[in-house]
Amino acid sequence: MGKTNKKHFESLVEVMQKQTLLAHVSAVTDLLALDEFLHICSQSPFNRGVFVYAYILELYRKSITERIISNDLLYVVEPALYKFQIAKEDFPEETHIPDESDLKISDEEKELAPAAYYDRPWFGKLAEAYGLPEYVRKGYAIPVERIFDLYETRTITNTIKYQLNIIQDTFREIYGDHCYRTLIMKEEGERLIKPKPPLYVMLPTIIYDNTIKKYVDLLFHLFSHEKKYIEREIVSNSHTILLSFPLLVRELYMDRQKEFEKQFDYFLKKMEKHSDLIRAVSIWNTNADTLDPRFLIKFIYKLRSNGISHISFVTSDLTTIILFCIGIINSVSIRFNYGLSRDPSKVAAPYAIPATFYVPLLHDFFSISTADKLYNIIGWICECPICSGKAPSSLSYKEIIKHNVYSRLNELEQFYNCKDEVDGIPEILKDDFNTIKEKRREIKKSVSRASYDRINSRLEHIRKVAVFMQDVVRLLKKQV
Ligand SMILES: [Zn+2]
Repeated sequence: MGKTNKKHFESLVEVMQKQTLLAHVSAVTDLLALDEFLHICSQSPFNRGVFVYAYILELYRKSITERIISNDLLYVVEPALYKFQIAKEDFPEETHIPDESDLKISDEEKELAPAAYYDRPWFGKLAEAYGLPEYVRKGYAIPVERIFDLYETRTITNTIKYQLNIIQDTFREIYGDHCYRTLIMKEEGERLIKPKPPLYVMLPTIIYDNTIKKYVDLLFHLFSHEKKYIEREIVSNSHTILLSFPLLVRELYMDRQKEFEKQFDYFLKKMEKHSDLIRAVSIWNTNADTLDPRFLIKFIYKLRSNGISHISFVTSDLTTIILFCIGIINSVSIRFNYGLSRDPSKVAAPYAIPATFYVPLLHDFFSISTADKLYNIIGWICECPICSGKAPSSLSYKEIIKHNVYSRLNELEQFYNCKDEVDGIPEILKDDFNTIKEKRREIKKSVSRASYDRINSRLEHIRKVAVFMQDVVRLLKKQV
């Protein structure tokens, strides 16, 4: 182990001594949730942080930076490069398309589909910062077959630079050139503030194909070509930065598990070659309901035995939250609203996310009307101080977000508090399962077929997780 690497490794151990809970900010309304998150868990046993998408950061750069600095938060910036891949024709809603005569485009470029977000204020800023091809800056989406070009245009390294610098640059903008000497008056006295580097750097999730192999090839192409840059900028320059990359785990689905395992082995083999650079993996899973917990833990242990010391989850579904609470995952980005899909054809506008209500008994978000029906049948579905016995539909949008934050953090605290009891977590899950199961007939009569199917599959998932957790907790106990 070289000198730099040793130092890097030591600081990594330091970072890992405490786990990090990241509030997921992918929509403007999530800023409200972030404030509530900071308010509620100021005494949290975890490091607190924010996982913010670049387009939201561009819209609210100063206010997000101020929150990061004044609350001493860790942060991760998701470059959201996939947003530039979405063509207007795939976009679900009607929005303004720029007039082609203004763009002075070539015949070849006329073949390209207009980008879905061209009229959004962050589009040009990010396209410029990432050094995206000219045609993207003119408002056209990146065609799938040109994704390989991104590596030639150094777009990936530009997104890394963006993540490394954006918060520090904004901080300098707010406080001036003397920022590193700025003293902030706090109730407890003066303190020197200096923005930290990001918790880890993300390589963009490129939705190119459903196969992991192609994506992995793209990533390792980057490692081979930009190794010096990565070593200089990331590994040696800043001790707390963890290099991480998202892994599309669609193939984690039960029915395609064999294929996924093959691809995952391929990934591990490739990774060994760059083990001096890679210490962290952040995992995306696109469909929590179908995730097999047994396979998930095998996946995590494989990563660990391959020298990956930081494992982070971007989706905060039930299994992930529990694995985080029992200390198997280092960081998790917790959502306070129904998650955005990673599939570009399904991604909605970043501004308006319809209100969804977190139903603690089912450990998932449901529409307000379904939550209301459950409330009418069960009588109570939340014990948080925001709800205080009221029906979900009687809450304001702001109250719903507060409820979502409160109930998610409450759930996390419950799991965390009983992590040392063998049956603690499975008991919580079994109680929730039984409460809903007893009322299953009434629920079926009251909700739509689609909602009932979703409730049922959720219930099945909770049952599966309860059984699985019983095994995991026993296993962990034996090891201690
Ligand atoms: Zn509530």
